Amino acid sequence: MDRDRCHHNQERLHRETLLAQIGNGREERTGAVSFPVYHSTAYQHPALGESTGYDYTRTANPTRTILEDAIAELEGGDAGFATSSGMAAIQTVMGLFSQGDHLIVSLDLYGGTYRLFEEVLSRYGLSFSYVDLRDVEAVKAAATPHTRGIFVESPTNPLMRVTNIKAICDIANKWGWLSIVDNTFMTPYCQRPLALGADVVLHSGTKYLGGHNDVLAGLIVTKGEELSAKVAALHNGIGAVLSPQDSWLLMRGMKTLALRMEKHQENAMALAQFLQNHPAVDEVFYPSLDPEERKIQEAQSDGFGGMLSFRIREAEWVPEFLRYLRLISFAESLGGVESLVTYPATQTHADIPEPIRRKVGVCDRLLRLSVGIEHLNDLTADLSYALDQARSTVTTGKGV
Ligand SMILES: *Cc1c(COP(=O)(O)O)cnc(C)c1O
Repeated sequence: MDRDRCHHNQERLHRETLLAQIGNGREERTGAVSFPVYHSTAYQHPALGESTGYDYTRTANPTRTILEDAIAELEGGDAGFATSSGMAAIQTVMGLFSQGDHLIVSLDLYGGTYRLFEEVLSRYGLSFSYVDLRDVEAVKAAATPHTRGIFVESPTNPLMRVTNIKAICDIANKWGWLSIVDNTFMTPYCQRPLALGADVVLHSGTKYLGGHNDVLAGLIVTKGEELSAKVAALHNGIGAVLSPQDSWLLMRGMKTLALRMEKHQENAMALAQFLQNHPAVDEVFYPSLDPEERKIQEAQSDGFGGMLSFRIREAEWVPEFLRYLRLISFAESLGGVESLVTYPATQTHADIPEPIRRKVGVCDRLLRLSVGIEHLNDLTADLSYALDQARSTVTTGKGV
């Protein structure tokens, strides 16, 4: 895939360069390399009917603009919008739809997105069908005369299913649906859905983009002038915008995204193999493991990401496994430098009703690992110790 983007001065800059250089050269008055945080909420008008481009900080803020320009360029879109969380990004984009509209959605998806759709937006007259988007025929079968959009996660959360983004966006374009891709797991360093035909990309910036488990943020990127203007109006109108301080913190994290993603992926690939060979584990989910999905992932992405899930052999081993981890934290997030483990059944996916969870495969033996950038041997040793202890404690009543 073409990793280069045409820069305004005709040089072709690589993504690593765009990331490291975010904000540099944009503060003309002082030459500040790290772009300043503009806390001011109000901006003076030079004269009646004139504006510096900044009037009121909800509409536009100079620090936020740098971040929004950066994510738009990285995703290859026309406009970027920074929001107060990933959920705020999704809620803002959903403002494009109206009462009566129907959307097709990835079957196995972030639990908070499911909750927003079913507990909030369904009361506003939107309806949703959850479909395994690997099956193009199932997508067509789920279409109704009221279908207006499709919402894709790839790889999915937590089962790392790979959707052929281009195939789905081709259907959406042909049938006149808005295609929205949640690109949180891959980031624009590894996957650019707009180039595959999507209309809107969104992110939880809280995860890989921020990368340090210290900022809550969301991002939206749109293609085309008309759609960008509509989302700009919703962003300002709804007002779930990112603060100047958090915009700065997110940019600070993004500068090292390329290095971090390389390490996350390298470690995750090795841990997926390690877990596959461990006798206490009976299934591992990582986008490189299924031959068909691997082919799609290789064609549409640069790498397989830093997330994996696995099923431990016995549900009773789960509490012991979590108790014996000494390095990897049992905590509910992903994409940071520190490795975290999550138990989707009671955490991220607790709001999804049990029958649906079971259908999707989020059972009570499933654990999700956000692989950090620590030394691989330390991670392997931690997992190995906790799995062995869990197995022997439950089987024999005492640890090894
Ligand atoms: C975390 C997450 C969200 C929600 O983002 P917040 O920043 O927590 O609001 C949405 N989609 C995916 C895939 C996520 O992992």
